[in-house]
Amino acid sequence: PFKPARRIASLPVPATIAMAERVRQLRAEGRDVISLAIGQPDFPSPAVALEGAVREVREGHTGYPPLAGQKPLREAVQAKFRRDNGLDFPLAHIMVANGGKQLIFNAFMASVEDGDEIVVPAPYWVSYPLIAGMFGGKAVEVPCYEADGFRPRAEALRAAMNERTKWLVLNFPNNPTGAILERSDLEAIAAVLRDFPNVMVMSDEIYEHLTFDGRKPVSLLNVAPDLAGRVLIVNGVSKAYAMTGWRVGFAAGPEPLIKAMIRAQGNATSGICTLAQGGAQAALQSPMEGVERMRAVYQERRDKVVPRLRAMKGLSCAMPEGAFYAFPGMKALKGHLTAGGRTIDSDVAFTEALLEEAHLATVPGSAFGQADHFRLSFAASDKELEEACARLERFTASLR
Ligand code: PLP
Repeated sequence: PFKPARRIASLPVPATIAMAERVRQLRAEGRDVISLAIGQPDFPSPAVALEGAVREVREGHTGYPPLAGQKPLREAVQAKFRRDNGLDFPLAHIMVANGGKQLIFNAFMASVEDGDEIVVPAPYWVSYPLIAGMFGGKAVEVPCYEADGFRPRAEALRAAMNERTKWLVLNFPNNPTGAILERSDLEAIAAVLRDFPNVMVMSDEIYEHLTFDGRKPVSLLNVAPDLAGRVLIVNGVSKAYAMTGWRVGFAAGPEPLIKAMIRAQGNATSGICTLAQGGAQAALQSPMEGVERMRAVYQERRDKVVPRLRAMKGLSCAMPEGAFYAFPGMKALKGHLTAGGRTIDSDVAFTEALLEEAHLATVPGSAFGQADHFRLSFAASDKELEEACARLERFTASLR
């Protein structure tokens, strides 16, 4: 008698997950598939995190934790915002959840009403519109262009806002493009926001430490402290510390919002695993050298992969400034035929053919709200990246 609720029935499986499923199937059939489809660091979690987790058990912290997160972890988060961002938040403005994703879920659950609009620069990480949609919100996409380095134009954001706008989502360094906002971009965006005093801002800074060529990302609150009453910063240990499976994210924002998010969370989960909290705390309190080593490796890989992508037939590729993705354009290949007889009529057809015929998994740009592109992750070993580039070279060269 089960019938999925409307909010689930209309919820698509994210393209990244669908791709991972297909990779599993092909591998089960014995195919040698390389996957650059998911956004997962290929490094082990730091040893200090393991020690932090063990310490929680040894010290007997095995009961239900406080809903907002354990105090020592929230203090470590508070110190992190001071150290890395020059931002001072009282503890009551800080909470912890099962990953950045649950913080986004909490924030939209706590604030979005039917018909509310969420302005999202495109391309975007697919979860913002999907989660907002579960609570009756509607994403309003603002296209960004390769020629602008995939940074949103403030005037385009202004044009997308109205009295129904509840949130503006900013995610820089960006997934999938790796774009970073300059101080001047943020100043222009802040000026727009001052004209829309009811709009909240979600600043997803989960890739903040993974930046290249000496660039340092600036946070909206660094240039516009007057907006502190309506900015929620979302962050976590998944990407910077290679701790995706630990499921720990943290957020800082205005107290009434954080309180409402804690209430939302309290009805979904009775707090975050204490071991994971101990691990995240130890990671945040450790010296930054480990993160710096991983960052440098991502940069080396970017420097190997992007020039090769640019040299391939029919591909263009903006230089990612951060995160660990390349987001090549493939428009020039539309209309071409593959060796297996497929017509490349879209980025979806391109990534399907690439997977089925060349056994390389990537994600179509349309999954991120930007057609004619595809995303590949360079969070993979040099050997895998080398073979992936060779496959992509052969595949694009063979198109007629
Ligand atoms: N934000 C962005 C832009 C992401 O790419 C991801 C993960 O892919 C997340 C948030 C969520 O990460 P987590 O829930 O592991 O903290």
